[in-house]
Amino acid sequence: MSADILDTARGGGRVVSLTFDDGPNPTDTPRLLTVLRRHRITAVFFLCGEQVQAHPEVVRRIVAHGHRLGNHSMHHDDMTSWSPGRIEADLRETNEAIRRAVPDARIRYFRAPYGAWGASPAVAAALGMRPLGWRLAVGDWEPPGTDELVRRLLDGVTPGAVVLLHDGGGDRGQSVAAVDRAVPVLRSRRWRFALPAR
Ligand SMILES: [Zn+2]
Repeated sequence: MSADILDTARGGGRVVSLTFDDGPNPTDTPRLLTVLRRHRITAVFFLCGEQVQAHPEVVRRIVAHGHRLGNHSMHHDDMTSWSPGRIEADLRETNEAIRRAVPDARIRYFRAPYGAWGASPAVAAALGMRPLGWRLAVGDWEPPGTDELVRRLLDGVTPGAVVLLHDGGGDRGQSVAAVDRAVPVLRSRRWRFALPAR
């Protein structure tokens, strides 16, 4: 398992990967799952352990819909100055929380909160998780309004980009609505949606 931070989608040309952080969220994650199913998109969900503990049934729904899982730490802490041992303990605790919700879950990816990687890429790789970054963030945490999010998605995509969005950490209704509106436009422009590169 490589510790290099991956930020590219699988395949060539106009292909992008959608990733969603900070969930599971009992309101917006199920709505997002409905949108992704309607558009036949498989995404990566970066889960926070404390949210997993609060909403395990939502994790089961994410897996039932065929999406991939990533570890996003227990409490969304900035790990920049953490020792490898402290990071490992947190990442293991997060994976255990996920596997209490979904016992046979495959947790393929890790993303450091805030992209503050510190020593975490090597720790994640040693635990079998590929560090996954992003090339496009649309600032949906602000949130700037659905129209603006759609504009940022349409204007910001580049071939092979991993795109960072959020289904948790606050009201993400705008993010869900923006995905629902942007995807058909991108498809009409011959963009395809894929998982991250291997
Ligand atoms: Zn996050």
